[in-house]
Amino acid sequence: MPIKVLDPKTVSRIAAGEVVDRPASVVKELVENSLDAGATQISVEVSGGVGLIRVVDNGVGIPPGEVELAFERYATSKLDGIDSLASIKSLGFRGEALPSIAAVAQVDVVTCAAGHSGGTKLSLEDGVVSQRGSQSRSVGTTVTVRNLFRKLPARLKFLKSPATESSHIANVVSQYALAFPEVKFALFVDGRAALRTPGSGKLIDSVAQVYGLEIARNMLQIEGAGWESRTAVSSPQVTGVVASPAVSRSNRSYLSFFVNRRWIASRSLAWAVEEAYHRLLMEGKHPVAVINISLPPDTLDVNIHPTKTEVKFQNERAVFVAVQKAVRQTLVELTPVPRIEEVATAYRSPSTTRPVSGTPVRSDSLFGLFPSPPLPPPTPVVSLPVLRVLGQILSSYVVAEGPDGLYLIDQHAAHERILWERINAQRRQHEIEVQGLLEPVTVEVSPRQDEVLRSHYEDLAEFGFSIEPFGNRTYLVRAVPILLHNKDWVGMLRELLDSPSGGDKGDWAERITVSIACHSAVRAGQTLTDDEMRELVRELEQTTVPHTCPHGRPTMIHLSSGRLGKEFGRE
Ligand code: ADP
Ligand code: MG
Repeated sequence: MPIKVLDPKTVSRIAAGEVVDRPASVVKELVENSLDAGATQISVEVSGGVGLIRVVDNGVGIPPGEVELAFERYATSKLDGIDSLASIKSLGFRGEALPSIAAVAQVDVVTCAAGHSGGTKLSLEDGVVSQRGSQSRSVGTTVTVRNLFRKLPARLKFLKSPATESSHIANVVSQYALAFPEVKFALFVDGRAALRTPGSGKLIDSVAQVYGLEIARNMLQIEGAGWESRTAVSSPQVTGVVASPAVSRSNRSYLSFFVNRRWIASRSLAWAVEEAYHRLLMEGKHPVAVINISLPPDTLDVNIHPTKTEVKFQNERAVFVAVQKAVRQTLVELTPVPRIEEVATAYRSPSTTRPVSGTPVRSDSLFGLFPSPPLPPPTPVVSLPVLRVLGQILSSYVVAEGPDGLYLIDQHAAHERILWERINAQRRQHEIEVQGLLEPVTVEVSPRQDEVLRSHYEDLAEFGFSIEPFGNRTYLVRAVPILLHNKDWVGMLRELLDSPSGGDKGDWAERITVSIACHSAVRAGQTLTDDEMRELVRELEQTTVPHTCPHGRPTMIHLSSGRLGKEFGRE
């Protein structure tokens, strides 16, 4: 076949396919137009699958002289030349939606602009005006789309069942309801009210309507100010709500991102949020979150995708980090510190474990795996800001970035601090975790050590050591604290027994705690995986005294951004 230029009708149908690929994209475009028109009430009606789609708004309306123009390709009131493309604030800007929809359906529009008496009615068929007249209505616009894709059997064939298509429509309306809590949305599917939002301006009210009360009750407001206030004005501002780890979902469709109120899909931002929940959710569970990102419009390109559902950030990394931090900070500040028994499950081996005190080890979990007693009230413990791990140096120090500069964390000292607090908490609750040894281990001690050991049996037993005399300065060890399992606990015992035997009981308890923490902590020189580093930092964030190890030495060195600036002669 020779090359020939396609006729305009075919061209417009092909082009329309880019913007309008299913009923939900018609709804999306029409709702965006209503929002751009400043509507405070938007009602969406669908019936018979693709049979009828109607969007009614109380926005500014279209002046009578411009109604036809609105259906011309590339006709828009939102863009004034190429320069303004860099500072788009509206959701639409290409002037493609109305002509695209009109190319593949029958469209009626009834609109009345402020200051005009009476409305205009325009009907289009195959993209061509078939009727024009006047019809009264209040200020606003009603667009009715009938028989979508009727003339495009290829497209029609690929549509899913009406139920699936309406669920996509419901999702579109839900997302905009979340993005614009000040707008009153209503969605009717085959006459049934599927969604209504109050338009109160409060995000949580929209969340309650979209996701239900249970989720709404468990949402935490993102308090990003701690981080953002210290950074440049142009840095991304993150607001919104995230679910406490107590509620989660088994897929990622409960994550919504809005950039300057535009609903976008972004795998990298989804990942940023999931990262922030690292170790807070069970495997296979995903968070619920509504994340609003505001950025100066000239730092992003919204014009990279036909349906405008993707954007390109000038500084993608900065946005990723801002989202991750804002979410993480919210979670750390507002969620209960995981209880000790929950942390301990990771180490417990049920067949060989028994509680020292005789009280059964609790097997309940923070995440509702098993029935659990009511949680203690949240304990806000933030003496360390939220840190982002950058890497490890010398196999000994974790490098992390915080809101105010750089942190170098001594992995051993930090882990000692974490374990010291964990052991103390377990002791307070009489729930020290014990590891029974498959074979008892014999330990021979010096006469001096023998003396010390005799007088501190009980103290050691309190921490999970089961030690019995075996004659002739030899002892049988049957169980050790679980933290020391597979560690050099014999060395630890000898070291402990070599220390002066004086001191009261409390003194000894502290000594044993420090010793266990020290011997079970990661060593300097040990390479850590990214996961291990993040876990270490997360646990350190939750300690009450993160800055020093139990010996009183610092766990970290902080290089503030001011100090860094000075060092580089910036001030
Ligand atoms: P875009 O939204 O990219 O400008 P559209 O084809 O969606 O392109 O709409 C074309 C124009 O029609 C808009 O720029 C706007 O001026 C007008 N318009 C469309 N829908 C509405 C509405 N609901 N209320 C007021 N004006 C509207
Ligand atoms: Mg539009």
